[in-house]
Amino acid sequence: MNHVQEIKDLLSSPKRIAITTHQRPDGDAMGSSLGLFHYLTALGHKVKIVSPTPYAEYLAWMPGAKDIIVGPEDKDLAEWTFEGADAIFCLDFNALHRINEFEKSVRDSIGKKIMIDHHMDPQEFYDYQYWDDKASSTAEMIFRLMEELDHLDYLSKDVATSLYTGIMTDTGSFRFTSTTPRVHRMVARMMETGINVNAIYDNIMSNSSVDRLKFIGHCLTERLKVVPELNTAYMMVPKEVFKTYNIKTGETEGLVNYALGIRGVKLGVLMTVQDNIVKLSFRSRGAVNSAQLAGNFGGGGHFYASGGKSLGTLEETEKKFLALLEDHKEMLLAD
Ligand code: 5GP
Ligand code: MN
Repeated sequence: MNHVQEIKDLLSSPKRIAITTHQRPDGDAMGSSLGLFHYLTALGHKVKIVSPTPYAEYLAWMPGAKDIIVGPEDKDLAEWTFEGADAIFCLDFNALHRINEFEKSVRDSIGKKIMIDHHMDPQEFYDYQYWDDKASSTAEMIFRLMEELDHLDYLSKDVATSLYTGIMTDTGSFRFTSTTPRVHRMVARMMETGINVNAIYDNIMSNSSVDRLKFIGHCLTERLKVVPELNTAYMMVPKEVFKTYNIKTGETEGLVNYALGIRGVKLGVLMTVQDNIVKLSFRSRGAVNSAQLAGNFGGGGHFYASGGKSLGTLEETEKKFLALLEDHKEMLLAD
């Protein structure tokens, strides 16, 4: 049950509000956070966003991004912000370990915690929730909340630009199955504020470095493995490749989709070495449940997009992964 009335009561007088989102924030994490930031600021609250890790360069153009407190660089300010908050909005994640070392400061804060999210199987760390795993994005949830609170008058150009970015990125530019008629109606309402959707698209999608493009070329020619008998394609990318092509946070975004773009493939997976763990990204279609597969790697997410981690080497991870595929043969081969 969503706590609309409780959130409404909370917002009825000026508050000190912290907004936070998952580590390595993507377009939806940033878009929903900035959208809520501009909306609540206009409502008269004192609002700060804390990101647990730096955001990718391709998101730096977003309205308000420069004022985000980036946790590791500004740890004291981040912790102080959580400590002094009357309310902490937790956006686009539903388990506190997704904010890394700030888990404790958020948990220990006396501020009310409000989870706004669209991932499956939330953990109960919050006081109030506004959640729907059928929603395209957390940005969509922010729009819905504004609508339910009768606050669409606060849909400024900055709010609309932020939320549009979140919906666009999380729906793969309005093509995933989560793209409902309702999503298009919301986006139409956002466009009526005068936002420049062409510029938003270009800022996100036509913003690659030459190195990144060559990195994708390398991954496609050297790292792609196809298992046609299990409708699966995957790529394993070791650390040195990231160095060679000077790849930074967020620049692997979209790479896994090439694996899923192969004819007949129902499961695409990307395995990358980040810090000292192997990060796995799952994308699927049809009957293949990405979140379930990621569950075997301590992760989760959505039915068709999920992530997890492995503490082993790439080779060990591959072995475990291939065994997992065998265990899920029926699901992988289902029509
Ligand atoms: P990506 O592959 O783009 O990193 O993540 C795909 C989806 O899975 C996102 O919605 C993301 O929030 C979720 N996800 C990614 N990594 C993890 C993880 O380690 N744990 C959980 N629970 N979800 C994850
Ligand atoms: Mn999201």
